[in-house]
Amino acid sequence: MDVKNNILETIGNTPLVRLNKITRELPCAVYAKVEYFNPGNSTKDRMALKMVEVAEAEGKLKPGGTIIECTSGNTGLGLAMAAVIKGYKCIFSTTDKQSQSKMDILKALGAEVIVCPTNVEPEDPRSYYSVAARLAREIPNSFLMNQYDNLANRQAHVETTGPELWRQTDGKITHFVTTAGTGGTITGTAMYLKQMNPDIQIWAIDVFGSLLTKYHRTGEMDMNEVHPYISEGFGEDFIPKNYDMSVIDHFEQVTDRDGAIMARKLAREEALFCGYSSGSVLAGLMQQKDKLKKDDVVVVLLCDHGSRYVAKIYNDQWMAERGFFEVKTFRDVVSARG
Ligand code: PMP
Repeated sequence: MDVKNNILETIGNTPLVRLNKITRELPCAVYAKVEYFNPGNSTKDRMALKMVEVAEAEGKLKPGGTIIECTSGNTGLGLAMAAVIKGYKCIFSTTDKQSQSKMDILKALGAEVIVCPTNVEPEDPRSYYSVAARLAREIPNSFLMNQYDNLANRQAHVETTGPELWRQTDGKITHFVTTAGTGGTITGTAMYLKQMNPDIQIWAIDVFGSLLTKYHRTGEMDMNEVHPYISEGFGEDFIPKNYDMSVIDHFEQVTDRDGAIMARKLAREEALFCGYSSGSVLAGLMQQKDKLKKDDVVVVLLCDHGSRYVAKIYNDQWMAERGFFEVKTFRDVVSARG
């Protein structure tokens, strides 16, 4: 029989799909690594499973134990799935910026979710980092996964995402472009690809309001760069240990507006219904179009599925309220028709 023993065995080996319309202004082929084909609908399933496996192997997670993590949803979903199959409890701390639907999905998989304020310093006892650290201290037989500094995160991409892209492009990949949050996806994939061919260009897409881009250019952790932003899942206000900045060639910042608009375009032009950060990757790539040549083989990684963003970027009113749409009057519409 051709069967999987459990849902975790379906993680990885996602398809690489050619983009046919949205990148038509570019001189080269662009392929999307569609990570929503993972069972939790995001690339984070890969690292969640790896973090659990490493914690088990190192004796940090023992039978009946509790997994604790700060998560914006996707990592939590991956961890919750691994916990169900392997018999652990899960408690997640998250911020009030995240979609309600993301939290409800975690609860559906049996996890407990604690919502913390977004706009407090990481050291503040109310921050989602501090809450997770306190729970890990207080709950016996618990382990704080810490996706930011836990190197099993990037190792998952060294072992899976990198080799898959090399194989799927027959070693022809010239550019790898993805959003950067914890840094696990970009660093791990880049570590593998650069080892296969050091000329492959690695471009990280960041958001205005994050300090990653300036840090990459100057080595300076400039808190003046940091301000609240609406984009979800990437950009940081500190440098997680999963980064190895030396394997990343370029950082490109995009606006909240451009990422949202591009995600909507991706759905309409390619039928790829993806999350906010997937729009941001495309927006960032288009900003770099002058650097690309005819024979380049570009891969963009689309991190997650659009279903978690229906009340946000896929809702016209939400877009209009944030000034992301030019609101058209009846007269504009009539005059545009001529
Ligand atoms: N996009 C989304 C939707 C995410 O959830 C994440 C993970 N935080 C990222 C992008 C960035 O990936 P990474 O943490 O591996 O840098």
